[in-house]
Amino acid sequence: MTTSLFDDRFNAISENLKRIRDDINESAVKSGRRPDDVRLMAVTKTVSVEYINHAITECGIDLIGENKVQEFLSKKDDLKLNGVEKHLIGHLQTNKVKKIVPYVDMIQSVDSYKLAKVISDESIKIGKTMDVLLEVNIGGEESKTGFDKSQFFDSLYEISDLPAINVKGLMTIPPICDSAAEVENYFAMMNDFYNEIKSKDYKNFAFDILSMGMSGDFKEAILHGSNLVRIGSSIFGARIYK
Ligand SMILES: *Cc1c(COP(=O)(O)O)cnc(C)c1O
Repeated sequence: MTTSLFDDRFNAISENLKRIRDDINESAVKSGRRPDDVRLMAVTKTVSVEYINHAITECGIDLIGENKVQEFLSKKDDLKLNGVEKHLIGHLQTNKVKKIVPYVDMIQSVDSYKLAKVISDESIKIGKTMDVLLEVNIGGEESKTGFDKSQFFDSLYEISDLPAINVKGLMTIPPICDSAAEVENYFAMMNDFYNEIKSKDYKNFAFDILSMGMSGDFKEAILHGSNLVRIGSSIFGARIYK
């Protein structure tokens, strides 16, 4: 048999992951940390299950992120999820919380007290405590979800009173920047927020995750304290939206 196009794509995923892991390790060391202090998430939106399964079973991916509730629910039964952590990373509407809470290990995209409250309420119903990250709109962009920088600190006390969520840290998607220096400013700001909150004693907060860095900027993110990078297109190739 000749090598098919599909084999090429599987090989590309393996090669991409090798290269990305090398880059992560190098940046971790540059930032004064150990390579395994930084976790790699494979972002699987629009990617079909055979490629995701390849990344899991052949390349050791143990953390995946999906953006949409419906997409994750329709793929999950065909995924080889044994030992794999699943995070929701896309904007979540309150009316879909109930559907996703039983199936994911973390919701990284909590962007309001209202959403946090619904997650807590639905988690109580099924006897779960949901790990969450608070998403910060660090660039203050109209088009983006996430807590506004100014309102964010006011919300923390209310959120820390919710019984069935465990707030593990922060997540952000910075604005598109013209230079590495500019994006590094945003990551540095996030790192400051993260350390400030971590140093205080909020109930239900156990900060150990700073989720930032995607295909185009993960090295800069790691230099500023990221310990979870969310990478999609550099692993699986450019996304094709249907
Ligand atoms: C799509 C997405 C990513 C991955 O983006 P790439 O540029 O493809 O690596 C990371 N985080 C979130 C929240 C996303 O929606």
